[in-house]
Amino acid sequence: MIDLRSDTVTRPTAAMRKAMLAADVGDDVYGEDPTINRLERTVAERLGKEAAVFAASGTQSNLMALMAHCERGDEYIVNQRGHTYLYEGGGAAVLGSIQPQPLEFKPNGTVDLDMVTRAIKPDDPHHARTRLFCLENTHNGLVMPLDFLAEARDFARTRGLAVHLDGARVFNAAVHLGVDVEAITQHADTVSICLSKGLGAPVGSVLAGPHALMRKARRWRKVLGGGMRQAGILAAAGIFALEHHVSRLKDDHAHAAMLAQGLKGFPQLKVEYPEDQTNMVFLDFPRDHAEPFVGFCRARGVLLSIDSRRCRLVTHLDVSERDIQTVLACFEAHFSGSGIATS
Ligand SMILES: *Cc1c(COP(=O)(O)O)cnc(C)c1O
Repeated sequence: MIDLRSDTVTRPTAAMRKAMLAADVGDDVYGEDPTINRLERTVAERLGKEAAVFAASGTQSNLMALMAHCERGDEYIVNQRGHTYLYEGGGAAVLGSIQPQPLEFKPNGTVDLDMVTRAIKPDDPHHARTRLFCLENTHNGLVMPLDFLAEARDFARTRGLAVHLDGARVFNAAVHLGVDVEAITQHADTVSICLSKGLGAPVGSVLAGPHALMRKARRWRKVLGGGMRQAGILAAAGIFALEHHVSRLKDDHAHAAMLAQGLKGFPQLKVEYPEDQTNMVFLDFPRDHAEPFVGFCRARGVLLSIDSRRCRLVTHLDVSERDIQTVLACFEAHFSGSGIATS
């Protein structure tokens, strides 16, 4: 199957499995797993942070960050379409007693900082204490401009807020911009990265930041049930991914661009692939066409996910240039000469 539903669907390569098999392991709750320790040092160094903590998932590492930054009754400012607010089960509120202050951000994950200013609560017992400003890069595959990140950081500093970056796909952003990832991550106090999206590891995220916050985060990880034991076998996949699967993200971006280019040839479809996009192509289908098309593709070995008329196609490690041609052929077979009107 050619699976374009997400970049989470990648399977570990033979070389990655070999690295996992060979991993030296120990009890990580005792701090004795050499491979996890190496992964944490590697990520801290790559991201320009003092320390890092390996986590089971991005949801867990984001929540560890929020709980390290915020106490009970604190508040974090977040995109109302941001992952930590919308797609993590409300964990900050449910488990952290942290109130989200969701705001309407722009499509590329930036926000009008004057609006953020207005959302910061005065220090008054009526209000939650505004503590943290949360950003996401990439957001829906879109790369945040570096100058916005610098501005956001200065803004947060002058207002006494910390910055957390949900960098599940921050390496896609770095590769797109042609910069070291540190050029991005230097603008946030803490950063969460995912190893199991485009980087192709089967499991895992890493949270990086200052020593004091990482100590708190490690404590919360245990509380959240994320104290794993001989998980170096997973960390080995992460190290392999960081060594071998970062620069190749440019191939995923090229494949997405190729796909978008091909799809623009179908007048029935509204195709979005702006210049700041990385590995995602968004499509709007004619009314009533999305559902039947998903079935049509599945029968031809192509998996898509569609939400009403909108479709997100995601490229990754397990999608080749040839696969892109196969996918385009599905669209061709379904849409060409079918007489479907543009709507
Ligand atoms: C995938 C993702 C996460 C973490 O998700 P998990 O499935 O818990 O690993 C966090 N933020 C963003 C933007 C994501 O895309």
